[in-house]
Amino acid sequence: MRPEIVVDLAAIRHNARTLAALVAPAALMTVVKADGYGHGIVESGRAARAGGATWLGVATVPEALELRDAGDTGRLLCWLTLPADAEDGSLARAVEADVDITAYTVERLDEIVAAGARARVQLKVDTGLSRGGSTLDDWPGLVARAAEHERAGRARVTGVWSHFACSEEPEDPANDLQEKRFHEALLVAEEAGLRPEVRHLANSAAAILRPSSRLDLVRVGLATFGLDPAPDADHDTDLRPAMTATAPLALAKQIAKGEGVSYGHHWVADEATTVGLVPAGYGDGVPRHGSNVLEVTVEGVRRPVRGRVCMDQVVVDLGGDLPPAGTPVTLFGPGDHGEPTAQDWAEACGTISYEIVTRIGGRFERRYEGVET
Ligand SMILES: *Cc1c(COP(=O)(O)O)cnc(C)c1O
Repeated sequence: MRPEIVVDLAAIRHNARTLAALVAPAALMTVVKADGYGHGIVESGRAARAGGATWLGVATVPEALELRDAGDTGRLLCWLTLPADAEDGSLARAVEADVDITAYTVERLDEIVAAGARARVQLKVDTGLSRGGSTLDDWPGLVARAAEHERAGRARVTGVWSHFACSEEPEDPANDLQEKRFHEALLVAEEAGLRPEVRHLANSAAAILRPSSRLDLVRVGLATFGLDPAPDADHDTDLRPAMTATAPLALAKQIAKGEGVSYGHHWVADEATTVGLVPAGYGDGVPRHGSNVLEVTVEGVRRPVRGRVCMDQVVVDLGGDLPPAGTPVTLFGPGDHGEPTAQDWAEACGTISYEIVTRIGGRFERRYEGVET
């Protein structure tokens, strides 16, 4: 074997089915940006559709085109357009391919409308994340312009939406405020004559924890992959992690008491032990912040990473055992066999599971299980 990421498509289908049932009658959009959070954009999208996602969501226009080029024909939203998309013809291809494209400003809206006939446009309002979206001040001007395009038959406004800042903390008052502002913005859009097919606000955490935010559609990314978007909030959902990262042991050997391990000798053996060399490092998305704190499993036993994570390799403490080269090491997985989860890795590194699964890759090969036949 070589270092590989095994993606369980049956888990993704199961999770999409579970989430679709949870949020009904709202529809489910599965977000597959950033290569499906590291699980493969095309394969994850297909599995999510099979599980009941009627929409897919991506950030960029090239991501939307990748799905279309792979044969996806369902409803598809993107929300991070750039001037370059108009300049190099990507926007025109996306309009032609029936991608719903989000506008935050009149300038970008006009660009989308100019890119092809009767573009499907969605309008995003910033209700408090202060990231993408129209400011509340600019919103009336944006919806008026969109209504004008619609009346002239140049575009269809298919959706109005916004995005939460603190949905993983359900008690945060920012959630109520954003929801209130969103409803006000919807009213402004209606008064301008817009009748969007879908109004949406919720990401994974809100879709699970905040029923009032489900509206017509929810945009669920992380939960699709079986990870918990709100690990500190009390809730119970039957989701299965879809990713397992494994690598074969490259070497196991003895080291003497007092020897330092890896760059900088940030770990020193306080007794003689054996160490194993795992061929995966920060060049493959193993966080360097995991130095001295990550764990893996070797033959079902938890083993700690010793010393610094290097570019291509990490050293684990085998506690006196000397398994042969080639012995599989599980970095993280669903946790069913005692291995750490992506959430465990995230906590050890002071980050979120989103970053663990999205960044693991590099020289790992990706393999799919549970392919529907
Ligand atoms: C990434 C993203 C989502 C999905 O977020 P999750 O927390 O992974 O569910 C939804 N909407 C927007 C705008 C996003 O950028």
